[in-house]
Amino acid sequence: MKIKFNYKGVHHCEAVVLSCIDFRFWRESVEFIEKGLGIRSFDFPSVPGSAKAVNESYSIEETVKSCISVPMELHNAKKIVIINHEDCGAYGGSKEFGGDSAKEQSFHEEELRTAKRNILEHFPDKEVILVYARFADDGEAVEFLTIE
Ligand SMILES: [Zn+2]
Repeated sequence: MKIKFNYKGVHHCEAVVLSCIDFRFWRESVEFIEKGLGIRSFDFPSVPGSAKAVNESYSIEETVKSCISVPMELHNAKKIVIINHEDCGAYGGSKEFGGDSAKEQSFHEEELRTAKRNILEHFPDKEVILVYARFADDGEAVEFLTIE
């Protein structure tokens, strides 16, 4: 089987997008990055919990090194996007928040902001974009929010 290769001769990309491994979100995340953020070329490392791996002291150095530093150096990316999502098993899922989705969202927003601070300590000159993916339309859609 052959599939068209879209990046012949291209060795740099615009961004590194760190996301969760969860199978329910990655296709939609790719679509959002392309259509919602207008980023067409990006490395796409994934780890359970995304921001969680950047914030936990035992894994921060390893995550930053393998998931972000290497892509940055190899592909000269200027932006870092971090995507967390609702009902993330790495955080115990929605049940940890007793089904209170507003509480869950604000928790993830803080996680993302903490991850941004941690990332900027390593890469002060990069643009960091924070995204939270939540269920919408009674679970028929995924809505992506950019977090300030
Ligand atoms: Zn997850």
